[in-house]
Amino acid sequence: MVAVREAAGRTPNRVADFTRELEAALSDGTISKSEARELKKNVRRDGITLREQAAVRNAVNAHRDDFAKGAAAKLWEASFIGDYNSAALIENGARIARADDGRIGAADARRLIEISKDSGFTPEEDRALEETLQQERLNGPGRRVLERYVEETKTLPPRTEPETIRIAGIPVRTHGASQAAIDELERTLPGMLEGNADLHRRLQRGEVEISIVPADKKISDLAEFREFRNQTAPFGGGYDGYRGLGIKKDGKIVVALPEENLARLPTAMGRKDYSLAIHEIAHAVALTSLRGERWNTLLDLYEDRKKNGGPFTSNYARKSPDEFFSEASTAYFGRGPSAGRDATWLRRRDPGLYDFLRETYGPPRQL
Ligand SMILES: [Zn+2]
Repeated sequence: MVAVREAAGRTPNRVADFTRELEAALSDGTISKSEARELKKNVRRDGITLREQAAVRNAVNAHRDDFAKGAAAKLWEASFIGDYNSAALIENGARIARADDGRIGAADARRLIEISKDSGFTPEEDRALEETLQQERLNGPGRRVLERYVEETKTLPPRTEPETIRIAGIPVRTHGASQAAIDELERTLPGMLEGNADLHRRLQRGEVEISIVPADKKISDLAEFREFRNQTAPFGGGYDGYRGLGIKKDGKIVVALPEENLARLPTAMGRKDYSLAIHEIAHAVALTSLRGERWNTLLDLYEDRKKNGGPFTSNYARKSPDEFFSEASTAYFGRGPSAGRDATWLRRRDPGLYDFLRETYGPPRQL
């Protein structure tokens, strides 16, 4: 879920602020639940960068004994949204949940599931969750929630023959993903472009390439992204943890879309109707079509929202002008991160952005 412009470091780094606030909260020896809640609020106020997430996690680990009961989990929640996640994060999350009250409850289990979804449900995450299940202290509702989820994710839908196809004139590497994932892209990609012939041409000319990331693979498992293995992304975190991409690479615009989101598998993060495909393709739209005046207009709209404290289509939309545009694009097509935040909501709550999207994509339509 990242755009290349984030690499320029436009998002402020507030790690130092966070550390100061944490030390202030620690001055009486413990971090209470309300102090943790306050820290969480502050760190997420303007969106949270990956570096800040890492700082939060390190702080939680370093001061585990200094947290009042339930407080560490509060803050921990703030530290994994949209982040590089892996088996280690799941294990760590389980440890913190246990440290709180000696057990993993249903809410803890759901949190662990969200962590695993965030980085894709590859065999690595699967194993980590199963290991968590084997913990002796894990019983009751938490166990049932985790067991049901692991069971649900055991089988992938049938694979297709890996091939490169064209959708709306744009090459798509399918990597053997399920037919349902391909069908969904056949619907959403032309649907996004059909309202603006000029936009469609720009995307075709912009050397855009799309890859579908199978639900049981990491982005860096694919040949075209192999060079990203174990690499830190310029915008923070490791590429291995990302499920979607929309970036510029070697003069081309490459887009990676996770199968689980396209095919609405149980391992997809966020709400069922949320379209990560629209989000990532919108990054390609921004990279090919939003330049000069248009980009400045978007910047003004973003700054205006920040000044007024929102509303935004999602918390992630606060992160940068690119994420602001991509998240709003999903909402515009009725596939946004929050139910009810659609084109009608945008027209009412952010008319400037609504007009901007209408100029970009043509009249609103449900995809
Ligand atoms: Zn993004």
